[in-house]
Amino acid sequence: MIFDVAVIGGGPAGLSSCIFTSRAGLNTICFERLAVGGQASLSYDIANYPAFNSISGFELTNKMFEQAKQCGTNFIFGNVLKLEKLKTCFKITTKKETYQAKKIIIASGTIPRKLGLNEEKFLGKGISYCASCDGAFFKNKIVAVVGGGDSAFEYVEYLSKIASKVYLLNRSDKFRAHSSRVEKAKKLKNVSILTNTQIKSLNGEKTLSSIDIVENKKTKNLQVEGVFVAIGHIPDLNFLNIELKLDKNGYIIVDKYMQTSDKDVYACGDIVSKHFKQVITACADGAIAGNSCIGG
Ligand code: NDP
Repeated sequence: MIFDVAVIGGGPAGLSSCIFTSRAGLNTICFERLAVGGQASLSYDIANYPAFNSISGFELTNKMFEQAKQCGTNFIFGNVLKLEKLKTCFKITTKKETYQAKKIIIASGTIPRKLGLNEEKFLGKGISYCASCDGAFFKNKIVAVVGGGDSAFEYVEYLSKIASKVYLLNRSDKFRAHSSRVEKAKKLKNVSILTNTQIKSLNGEKTLSSIDIVENKKTKNLQVEGVFVAIGHIPDLNFLNIELKLDKNGYIIVDKYMQTSDKDVYACGDIVSKHFKQVITACADGAIAGNSCIGG
């Protein structure tokens, strides 16, 4: 069987495109690595998505998932290992099976950027990339959050309710996060914001027990049992076996129809080369990509 559209990625962008293609009667299959919702599902408070003053990312994206299912989208849970172009369609390979589709929408998002230290040693043993997933393990413990964007401040706010003390470590004295978030964090009693600060080493035998930091050129040791890394995301298109035009950072270049350099491949959401990445813009991209597949 050849599907009309295969959507790779079940975050807000992918789910939005599924809603559009499925409602238009296109037989749509969506591949999701783990759980639907993408990065947005890990956000515990989204306050800038129209119609909701405040909603958790999990609830918001789950509503999108339910809607896509109701519209008739087929979902496959598993990693897409390879995307290839055949003569008349595309082949999508997962660990278990292969699938074929006439058109592709890539909505595979991004993966967390790493610090470039020995993070692997402490994965699940003190290092985390998701506060709402792992925060509960650090009840009444001292933790640090690395980064100065909205994600980092969201982590700080969330962790301040669980941990005894939260350090925010930002490499410069400028924050990318919305100023309201920064001001809110500054008022939290158990939060210390350290600027011009970078982690030099992660220390511990089996689990993380401390970090060495360089703050304003001075090295210090901080006794922390958890480090939450929130320093942005990078594209991960290892599955791609098609030549697509990418920008210098590895993001997919699309036109106003979300069409890539291959006329039957569209892309949407965070994997696209663009400057404003929010849930609402991912949904808009997804709607456009879906509509383009319909022929709109
Ligand atoms: P951002 O790209 O906004 O911020 C990344 C942060 O990490 C910056 O402070 C950056 O520092 C720092 N950084 C990057 N590389 C390193 C490194 N190697 N070592 C130390 N620090 C580093 O990423 P976010 O994930 O915070 O946000 C991404 C997008 O998602 C944004 O548009 C944001 O607004 C949005 N978002 C919205 C939320 C919501 O509305 N609920 C929640 C979370 C995110 P520098 O500034 O020096 O480069």
